[in-house]
Amino acid sequence: MSNSWSNWSGFVRAEPKLIATPADTNELAELVRTAPGPLRVVGAGHSFTPLVKSEGTIVSLEKIEGLVSHDAARHQARVRAGTRLGPLMHLLQGIGQGLPNMGDIDRQAIGGALGTATHGSGPKLGAYHTQLETVQFVDGLGKLREFTKAADPEMIHAIGVALGAFGIFTEVTVNNIATYRLRRRKWVLPIAAMLRDFETMMRAHRSAEFYYIPFSGYAQFIASDLSDAATTPRPTEDDEAGLRTLRRLRTALRWLPSLRRRLILGAIAKLPAEDYVQDWLNVYASDRQTRFNEMEYHLPFEEGPKALAEIIELTEKRFPEVYFPMEVRSVAADEFWLSPFYKRPTCSIAIHQDAANDPLPFMRAAEPIFRKYGGRPHWGKMHSLKAADFKKLYPRWDEAMAVRRDIDPQNRFVSPYMAGLFGIET
Ligand SMILES: Cc1cc2nc3c(=O)[nH]c(=O)nc-3n(C[C@H](O)[C@H](O)[C@H](O)COP(=O)(O)OP(=O)(O)OC[C@H]3O[C@@H](n4cnc5c(N)ncnc54)[C@H](O)[C@@H]3O)c2cc1C
Repeated sequence: MSNSWSNWSGFVRAEPKLIATPADTNELAELVRTAPGPLRVVGAGHSFTPLVKSEGTIVSLEKIEGLVSHDAARHQARVRAGTRLGPLMHLLQGIGQGLPNMGDIDRQAIGGALGTATHGSGPKLGAYHTQLETVQFVDGLGKLREFTKAADPEMIHAIGVALGAFGIFTEVTVNNIATYRLRRRKWVLPIAAMLRDFETMMRAHRSAEFYYIPFSGYAQFIASDLSDAATTPRPTEDDEAGLRTLRRLRTALRWLPSLRRRLILGAIAKLPAEDYVQDWLNVYASDRQTRFNEMEYHLPFEEGPKALAEIIELTEKRFPEVYFPMEVRSVAADEFWLSPFYKRPTCSIAIHQDAANDPLPFMRAAEPIFRKYGGRPHWGKMHSLKAADFKKLYPRWDEAMAVRRDIDPQNRFVSPYMAGLFGIET
């Protein structure tokens, strides 16, 4: 009987010999020692790159989940790495803790989010891996090991962005904050004004991001700030309805750009302004139903507006089929060796293509623009980079590879795709 696996978008598919769901770390360690290789660990399969693809074994930690313990005074929680962010939010809220920030969705496993440097937006807010205090993992020989930041900060920095290749994380202790409330506001403004005031607007809020609506000339800005006010209802999500409208106009009017723009502006004018206060866990995540593929590059913060202007021009000149809004965020610099935010305040720009369209022509055309501005790709989103490119982008690349060899001396976690990323001959 064959096993089939595919990622969320359906673009990456695999026929592994085995899909395993170990019940505990002992079973996991036994699999690492004996299951057909290569062994790739899956979180929720929400990455767009073939990180999880394996013709050997795909290991899911869906049974290794939940809260292990917590420290109320330090706002720390130790959780099993298969825990999904959705349930995790509720577990944390129950013990008076909150994740300092989140991305667009809450479907990922914490191990998977750490695996690709998953991030939200905020000039002073780091990606999930910056919360790491302790990592317990099974190494490539099937041995259970643990590093803590207090005793060995270098090792936490070396392995924190894990890519499923620095051991399989089993438990992590994360530094959280006390539960909090956010006031969230959304409004629309011309993209020219957004690009002109980019730095001020992105730095003026605890968390700020915007979406450029292609072929419209307008952006939707989203700002979140701490609030002590009473909660007010979060408005019903309108993103999916908005996407349906943009897709309809794309399909009917792709060769009539001025009419397309006029009708998009009409739809934008009807968008209700949003302004509400909610507990942190009710603010960040959206329900993404329309499947897409995505490329996201992390650029030096100040290069964001120039790069975005070029991406918009490319899209509107050459890719009329594109209708997904482009997402622009900021992320704080950090010290993790394989973090795209390594020592660099960042502006992240994400482009999307409907899963029904071939994403490659658009992504291939956009990538040189991102690279020209010194972009580092999101590990979980489409890119074409290989080891030689990463070596130039990551100052501690060689040291990271040496740590990886120590953790996985027999290359148990190295699939053909990972071999290309790491420059390993197989
Ligand atoms: C609709 C949608 C919205 C998204 N929004 C955002 C966003 O807002 N911000 C952002 O940064 N990204 C975003 N992403 C990308 C996504 O967050 C990342 O690709 C993330 O890694 C997916 O998590 P996952 O649990 O599905 O991991 P998977 O895709 O299953 O795995 C990702 C990597 O982590 C490794 N891994 C998984 N578990 C472990 C473990 N226990 N130990 C070691 N390694 C492990 C895997 O081997 C793989 O290399 C989005 C993706 C989708 C589909």
